[in-house]
Amino acid sequence: MKILVTNDDGIYSPGLLCLARVASKLGEVRIVAPDVEQSSMGHAVTSGRPLKYRPLARESFEAYRVDGTPADCVALGSFHWEHMDVVLSGINLGLNLGNAIWHSGTVSAARQASLLGIQGIAVSAPGDPEEPDYDALASHVETALRNVIGDPALPLVNINLPLRPNGLRWTRQSVRHYDGRVVPGKDPRGRPHYWFTVRPIEETEEDTDRWAVENGWVSITPLRLDITDESLLANATATHPLD
Ligand code: MN
Repeated sequence: MKILVTNDDGIYSPGLLCLARVASKLGEVRIVAPDVEQSSMGHAVTSGRPLKYRPLARESFEAYRVDGTPADCVALGSFHWEHMDVVLSGINLGLNLGNAIWHSGTVSAARQASLLGIQGIAVSAPGDPEEPDYDALASHVETALRNVIGDPALPLVNINLPLRPNGLRWTRQSVRHYDGRVVPGKDPRGRPHYWFTVRPIEETEEDTDRWAVENGWVSITPLRLDITDESLLANATATHPLD
């Protein structure tokens, strides 16, 4: 199995190396990752300028750095490696739960794989204030991956791990609350500025991704590319037939 490993934290991230080491137990690994951090870049692609794809040693792994986004890395990685089987994205230094999926570069890299017909799996863990003990987390990452990797019924999967997991849960995306928040402040010269950040969300619904991680479970959420609201569409075609 050919496994491309990427992320949005950049090619020097400790989470990326942990995921590559786990992946090397499951198949042949190649790393293609952004040369600088690209967190919260979502599914942006670089179309206004050409991209570089340059080799860079990361332990014993064949690795390349790209001066672009996570989605760019997957596009270039699949271009340079024919018949790639799966893209793993992460381990992100920070959870990607609920509405964070929309902003996440980590999830978007996995989604880019899925758009190209390749299975995409995003893997995230808490990054702040405490970073995971990656050696301890690795076996949980491996267990989660073995449950989904190579399964054609799961083209796009979002995995989130708590720092000390109890086990695995299948979950749905929690979307009831939005955690984005704009915080005003002043720069050192007294000029106003604004920081887009997240606020904590509690009391999340059972069986959601956020609920699972808060309760110590590894959350595995199957995602879809087609986000059409089927029930609204059925209702619309029934009640508002177009001429
Ligand atoms: Mn990140």
